[in-house]
Amino acid sequence: MAKVYFADLKANQESLLRKVDRLCTACGMDQFINKGDLVAIKMHFGEPGNTGYVRAQYVRRLVDKLTKLGARPFLTDANTLYVGRRSNAVDHLRSAVLNGFDFAVAGAPVIIADGLTGKDYVNVPIEGKHFREVKIGSAVAHADALVAVTHFKGHEATGFGGVLKNLGMGSGSRAGKQMMHSDVLPVVDEEKCTGCGRCNRWCPTGAAALVGKKTRIDQDKCIGCGECTVTCGEQAIAVNWKTEPDIIQEKIVEYVMGVLTNKTGKAAFLTFVTNVTPDCDCWHWSDAPIVRNIGILASVDPVALDQAAVDLVNKEAALPDGRLAGLSAGSDKFRTLYPGVDWQRQLAYAQAMGLGTRDYELVRI
Ligand code: SF4
Ligand code: SF4
Repeated sequence: MAKVYFADLKANQESLLRKVDRLCTACGMDQFINKGDLVAIKMHFGEPGNTGYVRAQYVRRLVDKLTKLGARPFLTDANTLYVGRRSNAVDHLRSAVLNGFDFAVAGAPVIIADGLTGKDYVNVPIEGKHFREVKIGSAVAHADALVAVTHFKGHEATGFGGVLKNLGMGSGSRAGKQMMHSDVLPVVDEEKCTGCGRCNRWCPTGAAALVGKKTRIDQDKCIGCGECTVTCGEQAIAVNWKTEPDIIQEKIVEYVMGVLTNKTGKAAFLTFVTNVTPDCDCWHWSDAPIVRNIGILASVDPVALDQAAVDLVNKEAALPDGRLAGLSAGSDKFRTLYPGVDWQRQLAYAQAMGLGTRDYELVRI
């Protein structure tokens, strides 16, 4: 059984920042962080306009703790696949600063995990059902240790967005994200293709090749790596977002396996079950929370942590001014929000793949 440490939000004259310290200590950070470790703090900086993400002040506490332990922490996330304000490192860094994540506030530099355009990744071999290797942003892959800071909320693709979603989808390079999101091979829209040839240069198999002045993709050679899709600035190779919810959850879990491959005994997870919005922080807005603010969780087991967070939310009655108004305590909030998505799949698959256990003990600090 895994331990999940829980701090509620009652102050009793102790600040929540101090509780962050105590959560970090409870889950053993003082033991597994060594002097000189480069520690990736895996964040979601929030799309500009979104207000649901974890605030920089909390992250500063974690940074200060890691720094005191002699480590060298940095904040990181990989670029998004969709064209928003975090799909390349320049926009991503601007967005992070806009949302409060600059050195002056957070006390640590921000490094975009998969680099300027999403091409900076490491192919990590894994034994998965869907993937034999996964494309992990190099700043995450090369770090000595990792702490994921997660805002727990609903998510349209996975039911809820917790640690697994933050780590797996969030650490995948842009092409990696394309592979998680899509089950079909790409096709070029010849109307939009200008024949610039950029996708040809990035295609690892020669499947994308100019035929006259338009690129065509040889479906027999294509391995579905997604490089062409994320390279084309004309959006001539569309992202196919339609993947079965069970499959996308399994793929995300396989990416988590890749992230944690070289972090055994060197990773911890901190989840804020506060401001539990129905949608992802990738939107440029945040809807009203669906339940009251509950608390902050920490564990070294990402599966137990997600299970504990979803249980805590489902135990609550829905807030009257949120999207689930009227829903009683004990009802499944995420299944109600997204009836077509069985969120249990990510937890069951992660447990089956050895990432942790759904069996946990909640320990109040
Ligand atoms: S990168 Fe886009 S526009 Fe350029 S050749 Fe490829 S598909 Fe055509
Ligand atoms: S998905 Fe990968 S292999 Fe297929 S055409 Fe695009 S770049 Fe080439």
